[in-house]
Amino acid sequence: MSFKPQGKHLIAGQWVATDQTFISQPVEGPAYYFSVGNIELINKACEAAEDAFWSYGYSTIEQRALFLNTIADEIEARANTIIEIATQETGLAITRLEGECGRTVGQLRLFAAYILKKDFLDRRHDVALPERQPLARPELRLIQRPIGPVVVFGASNFPLAFSTAGGDTASALAAGCPVIVKGHEAHPGTGEIIAEAIHHAIKKCGLHEGVFNFVQGGAHKIGQALVQHPLIKAVGFTGSLRGGRALFDLCVARPEPIPFFGELGSINPMFILPKVIENRGTEIAKAWVDSLILGVGQFCTNPGVVVLIEGKLTDVFIQTATEILSSMKSQTMLSKHIAAAYHTAVKRLAETNGLHQCLIAPEEIRQASPSLFTTTGQEWLKNTDLAEEVFGPSGLIIVVKNEHEIMQIAKSLKGQITCTIHLDERDKPLAKMLLPVLERKAGRVLVNGMPTGVEVCDAMVHGGPYPASTNFGATSVGTMAIRRFLRPVSYQNIPEDMLPSDFL
Ligand code: NAP
Repeated sequence: MSFKPQGKHLIAGQWVATDQTFISQPVEGPAYYFSVGNIELINKACEAAEDAFWSYGYSTIEQRALFLNTIADEIEARANTIIEIATQETGLAITRLEGECGRTVGQLRLFAAYILKKDFLDRRHDVALPERQPLARPELRLIQRPIGPVVVFGASNFPLAFSTAGGDTASALAAGCPVIVKGHEAHPGTGEIIAEAIHHAIKKCGLHEGVFNFVQGGAHKIGQALVQHPLIKAVGFTGSLRGGRALFDLCVARPEPIPFFGELGSINPMFILPKVIENRGTEIAKAWVDSLILGVGQFCTNPGVVVLIEGKLTDVFIQTATEILSSMKSQTMLSKHIAAAYHTAVKRLAETNGLHQCLIAPEEIRQASPSLFTTTGQEWLKNTDLAEEVFGPSGLIIVVKNEHEIMQIAKSLKGQITCTIHLDERDKPLAKMLLPVLERKAGRVLVNGMPTGVEVCDAMVHGGPYPASTNFGATSVGTMAIRRFLRPVSYQNIPEDMLPSDFL
């Protein structure tokens, strides 16, 4: 049976509404009215989360693991309905959303298994040395503790894996932090059904109902009030550089500044070295195009920029990419707003001096087809605007003159989520010069692969220097994401039976 959203917010275990509404904008299927959040609701949600912290923040690891697994069960039980409404709201393919639903459930279970191992606690113990001269040493024990209520912004481009019960929520709950999710307006029904799944899990596990709260609508003032609320201790965000930066600035300007873990823009450059292009140029061009158009280019790891050294096979690479891209039909984007931003960005590139247009996407409402441009290394170095992310299926190929220019391009890069090198054995001398530069630029460096497809595992970093993220020491994917919501506490001479249960 189809899901009919009630259009309400979940605050302290109650489904509540205000007298203002907004309407969803599905690609297909019925549109629904949703209540618009307000400041009063934000205050209630933050107070409920703080109240919940006094029990949830001191729960056992086993209780939290059970809760995460129960959320996963509840999502699985609703999977068909979730995928149906998410497809209608986002226009993403059913297969993609099935995969994303599996990933969301997998992430929750991964965090459950991870915390049970207790490595994340980083427990340290310096025994007392009462006889030490000239000063006795006290007994010191260190452990990681949850930081308190966390705000999570649902991401438009991952309605499941980076939204209501996505990686930020899973890692905060795993750490012991209650969560308030600000749902994304592009998929309000999807957000609500996931919130319903979490609510059921809270009841089944007998937890304080303020452990999870869900608010939507209300334009920027809701997000701004949330990040400025004095009871909030950290924020997880995936979205635009502009929005993320505005919220980051608010977090820093608070009387008590708090960390803002924003995963923002990236162009994910790929360096294709001169020898590998001789052997595998066409194969790489095809793989690049597939990665570029995946999900209509609406991935933070979308490889928007390719760097090649001028040579006899450069034109073949460009020609192959152009031919494949021009045969692609236009596809539906996540929202009208995102499609309009894509067309504005493509228009800006088309009007930029020094760029050659291979393919220009025609302007369409909520639809996008691929675009492709080429330029020279010197033009790229002159025009810093070219380094801005284009969110959608648009590619830029930079043709450089020599190895010196390739190094200049690498050094000119801003922070990236990923940087990729394509090489064969004979390219290794150049690759060895490039790697230390790219390592300073990106959270993840790849060889001979495509950056789309982010493994959720222990060794993943999904972040990087600004503007890829606002916090280069963190990741929003993988088990290390839990560190964002923990802080170390030293316990000096505290009797063992008074220590947090996590020490046991
Ligand atoms: P967004 O505009 O940054 O919005 C994300 C969330 O932040 C929304 O909940 C939005 O709430 C809130 N927000 C944005 N600016 C705010 C502000 N100044 N004050 C308070 N809250 C604010 O991102 P989006 O809607 O997902 O997509 C828009 C553009 O973001 C895309 O075209 C793309 O360029 C970029 N994007 C990049 C990535 C990536 O991974 N690199 C992912 C998604 C989007 P409201 O409902 O109030 O707007």
